[in-house]
Parts: sequence; structure tokens; C-alpha cells
Amino acid sequence: MRRGKQPPIPVFIIALCCAGLITCASNSTKKQHKKTEIHMTDPPRQNDEAQKLARELKRKGISDERVLTAIGNIPRHSFIDEQLSAYAYQDRPLPIESGQTISQPFTVAWQTELLQLKPGEKVLEIGTGSGYQAAVLCEMEAEVYSIERYYNLYQTAKETLNKLGYYPNLFFGDGFEGLPEHAPFDKILITAAPEKIPEKLLQQLRVGGWMVVPLGGRTGQKMTVIRRISDNEFKESEHGDFIFVPMQKGTSE
Ligand code: SAH
Repeated sequence: MRRGKQPPIPVFIIALCCAGLITCASNSTKKQHKKTEIHMTDPPRQNDEAQKLARELKRKGISDERVLTAIGNIPRHSFIDEQLSAYAYQDRPLPIESGQTISQPFTVAWQTELLQLKPGEKVLEIGTGSGYQAAVLCEMEAEVYSIERYYNLYQTAKETLNKLGYYPNLFFGDGFEGLPEHAPFDKILITAAPEKIPEKLLQQLRVGGWMVVPLGGRTGQKMTVIRRISDNEFKESEHGDFIFVPMQKGTSE
């Protein structure tokens, strides 16, 4: 499924073990939503598996039915290498190209639940990665913007999402800069871990909006929600411990 040279299976198995340790995330009103035909052409087995995964996340504490419906609709196997498809519907992160990971489904669901997205809200995701989290945001009927710092991931995510009928606004660039030309955003979701709150992103939040960000160093982060109360006033709350890949400055071609 993925382009580029495919490492031999043992490399994948090692990478898989590493991804178990690093939970990267272990998340235009021009039709961004999934076309219904996709469900009909998808083999029923995969849809059943996605729905089974959604039920597992519900048991683990995800309560937002819209988030669970989104997870149950998305063919997660489409976002990973074919060699890993046997693991696609397990609640675990998996390796993707460039040493990054597709987030653990629970983490994706948890971050999305914290966003409390309403249809039509404008959301900025930092760290497109595989594109899976962006698909969840599209399923939630948000107006989605997403930035990725690796060109190959940006390109592959775009192809995967478009093939499935999702059309978020994708950008290759440094997420620390945000997208000032498209600001303000109702919500900002960061799916890699910055050590400190990215100041420029805070400024791109509308007053009344909020950011969900795993905040901290390489050994672990606190899932943090930062609400913009007024131009200069922000309020923080913490929502559990996670381990994400680091948010890195600059881009990589
Ligand atoms: N949301 C992704 C998870 C990706 S892992 C998914 O659903 O698959 C985190 C991603 O953040 C990686 O792809 C990494 O390359 C990206 N990233 C890290 N620092 C970044 C930055 N400064 N700007 C944009 N993307 C960044």
C-alpha cells in the first residue's frame, strides 16, 4: 500500500515492538466527509473489525458516540503498510514511514473527545502522519487543516485520504508556525509532543477555542487542554499520561 522500498519483515517486527513503546499518539466545506459508497465497496470484514475496535474503546472509557461512530467507519488498515494489516484493528500504535507512528486508537479517540468538535468547526491538526486522525476529524464533519513536517508522509497521507473520499486541507510545513493565513481556529490538536506550549499556535486560537496537546519531554507527557478565555488569558487542565513522538522543528524533504 505504501510507496517506497519495503523493509523486510523482521524490520517491521522490530519497528512494531518499538511502536508499542512509543505511542505517537498511543490522533473548505468542499466535501470533506466520507462518501457513503466507500462503506458499500469495503469488504464487510474490515467494517466489522473497525466497529469491534470502537466497542473496545467504549469499554475502555471513550463515551462520545460521534467519536466511536467515526472510529467504526474508518478502514484503519488503509493507513498502514500491508505487512502490518493483521494488527490494524488492535488498540495499539504502529510504525509508519520516517520513524513515525500511527497513534494508538484509544489515544486518537481520547484526543478527539477532548476537542468536543461540533460540525463545521475549523480545526488545525499538527502532525498528519498517516492521515488516520485527520480522517476521524473529517468524519466529525469539521473543517480540517493538517500540517506534516515529512514530505513523504504528507504525500502518502494525501493519497490515502483522497482515495477514501476524505478531502481535508493538508500542508507540508513546520507545525510550530501553524497556518496564520487560515487562523483563527476553533480547535487545535497536536499529535506530537512539544516540550513547551507552542506560542504561535496559541495565538492562532480564537477566543473561546481550545488546544489539545501532549505536553512534556521524551519520557512522557501530560495530555493538556488549553482554553483561550480572552486575548491574553488562557486556562490549562490535565487529562492523563501519554507517550508521543516528539514535535520537531523544521521540515524534512
Ligand atoms: N496524527 C497522526 C499521528 C502522527 S505521529 C496519525 O493519525 O497517524 C506525529 C506526527 O507529527 C509525525 O508524523 C511527525 O512527523 C509529525 N510532526 C512532528 N513534529 C512536527 C512539526 N513541527 N510539524 C508538523 N508535523 C510534525
